[in-house]
Amino acid sequence: MSSASCIFCKIIKGEIPSFKLIETPLSFAFLDIQPLSEGHILVIPKHHGAKLHNIPDENLADILPVIKKLTKVLKLDENDTPEGTGYNVLQNNGRIAHQEVDHVHFHLIPKVDPKTGLG
Ligand code: 5GP
Ligand code: ZN
Repeated sequence: MSSASCIFCKIIKGEIPSFKLIETPLSFAFLDIQPLSEGHILVIPKHHGAKLHNIPDENLADILPVIKKLTKVLKLDENDTPEGTGYNVLQNNGRIAHQEVDHVHFHLIPKVDPKTGLG
């Protein structure tokens, strides 16, 4: 299911360009255009829905393994491992919860140490 007016549905279809990282039959992962830190990623279901409870279980079940795979690209230098690098996974629902784009998305945000610049 897709929405003609939704920017994330357009990104999935390639109608709006994005820096794609992973695509599965049910999910799509790409870089956030206004990153909160370097490497800020968005992972979205290909099924259009505004809030988490609108998304079918099979789409939701596909997303966490994609996020897990992407933690490997959070490696910031040769000493960092995914286990050693901090990151936040965030998912907002509704304006009151700071959701701006009405297509469910999971933020994967690398945490960078302000002192060292490393994760
Ligand atoms: P929200 O506040 O809804 O949880 O987050 C929406 C996110 O989508 C923001 O971090 C914003 O930078 C990102 N975003 C909005 N429009 C675009 C776009 O056209 N391309 C990409 N790559 N990210 C977008
Ligand atoms: Zn959409």
